[in-house]
Amino acid sequence: MKVELRNLTKIFPNRNKKVKEDVVAVNDFTFTIPDGKLVGLLGPSGCGKSTTLYMISGLQQPTSGQIFFGEEDVTDLSPENRGVGLVFQNYALYPHMTVKQNILFPLQNLKGADKLSKQDMLERAYQAAKLVQIDELMDRKPSELSGGQQQRVAIARALVKMPKVLLLDEPLSNLDARLRLQTREEIRRIQRETKITTVFVTHDQEEAMSISDMIIVMKKGVVQQIGKPQDVYEDPLNLFVAKFLGTPPINVFEGRIVGGRLFIGDDAVMEYTDVPDQEVFVGIRPEGFILTENGALNCKMSGIDVMGRDVSIVTTNTASVNPVVRSIIDADNNVDAESDGVRYSLKPGKVYIFNKETEERIYAKGRAL
Ligand code: ADP
Ligand code: MG
Repeated sequence: MKVELRNLTKIFPNRNKKVKEDVVAVNDFTFTIPDGKLVGLLGPSGCGKSTTLYMISGLQQPTSGQIFFGEEDVTDLSPENRGVGLVFQNYALYPHMTVKQNILFPLQNLKGADKLSKQDMLERAYQAAKLVQIDELMDRKPSELSGGQQQRVAIARALVKMPKVLLLDEPLSNLDARLRLQTREEIRRIQRETKITTVFVTHDQEEAMSISDMIIVMKKGVVQQIGKPQDVYEDPLNLFVAKFLGTPPINVFEGRIVGGRLFIGDDAVMEYTDVPDQEVFVGIRPEGFILTENGALNCKMSGIDVMGRDVSIVTTNTASVNPVVRSIIDADNNVDAESDGVRYSLKPGKVYIFNKETEERIYAKGRAL
């Protein structure tokens, strides 16, 4: 089922009397989520992710705009009538019920033509439990389960009604690191198997990048960029998106274009023949540095982190916006941690320049110097 958002806007009245402006939690969101895809809705806390999800679910009414499931306008439909499955960060299971009863619960409330026989309900519940691999825990109470198992129950409960759309709001946030990794793979597998159109909300870019067919990056209620994770990573539209994606994060410098050359401090590092003179922000991905004796960019050595196959060189540069400049290079490179400085030449595809005021990307073909 494709899900279409048309000019979706949600404004909350401001209760703080000192501030006049209302809160625009979601601002003119237009996008069609393709049928059967898993879309990651990504952005910092407070950017409007949950509000968007609640509007899709029907738990919140948009201030303006419309929502379509397929060709049907569902904007005024109640949550129960939309056929959505919802999973929240806190698993919200009924503590006094067993796992089986928790999963059965949504089915027992079906009315009229949707009503199922006891046998059918049980079958469906076991199907859903199998899918999330908790079918052996059906007689336990939630308190007898680990966090990951509880979250699986919550997912099974959302799946049991065979929703047309699955909505997940930071479902892994309460899990420890290893379980988070495991459960996100699980969600990906379940989504692929069921082909349910899914919106996965997270503030964790790595999580979104790793499981989504597409990501939507939001900032203060406004969609910044939509695309395949790798495309957005490689081709960010603005500095915010560039900074939000990637671990370690992109290195940002204050730079300037003078006579077709990009300067970071006193170093001319790239040639941009078509860009007029101006101040810019320069973003360089950690993997965009090449260690060379006569490299154009000079940095001061600070330390070396070995991360398995790769080596991360930590340096400083007075033009850097961040305290350190972090590069990732192949472990084959011999780097002397005792040296005063390192010199890098840059990989043009990993260097981005942004307008200093608007922070929008300046599209220009560059050549390394
Ligand atoms: P996210 O899920 O991305 O962290 P939310 O969608 O929860 O963000 O919130 C977006 C903005 O809307 C925030 O500024 C938040 O404070 C505000 N907001 C959310 N719900 C309400 C509400 N019920 N009343 C007033 N403001 C709200
Ligand atoms: Mg939220």
